[in-house]
Amino acid sequence: MACKGVCTKYKAKKSSYVTGRYMLGQKRCSTCEIFVNWDGKYCPCCNSPLRTKPKGTRTREKLRMIQQIKRI
Ligand SMILES: [Zn+2]
Ligand SMILES: [Zn+2]
Repeated sequence: MACKGVCTKYKAKKSSYVTGRYMLGQKRCSTCEIFVNWDGKYCPCCNSPLRTKPKGTRTREKLRMIQQIKRI
């Protein structure tokens, strides 16, 4: 399993807050060292399992986080 460069197609836009990326549904691939906008559990590029939310998050908390991000 190695980076083939395909992940750049799914690369997530920059966010000022690292935790905000997970809240917005972006997932991190530790192999490609990139955040991707991808629905699956595995990287579309290297097929490694993607990291999603660091903690269990409820929908209400998620919405609150998004609102906070928008305000900033
Ligand atoms: Zn990759
Ligand atoms: Zn990957």
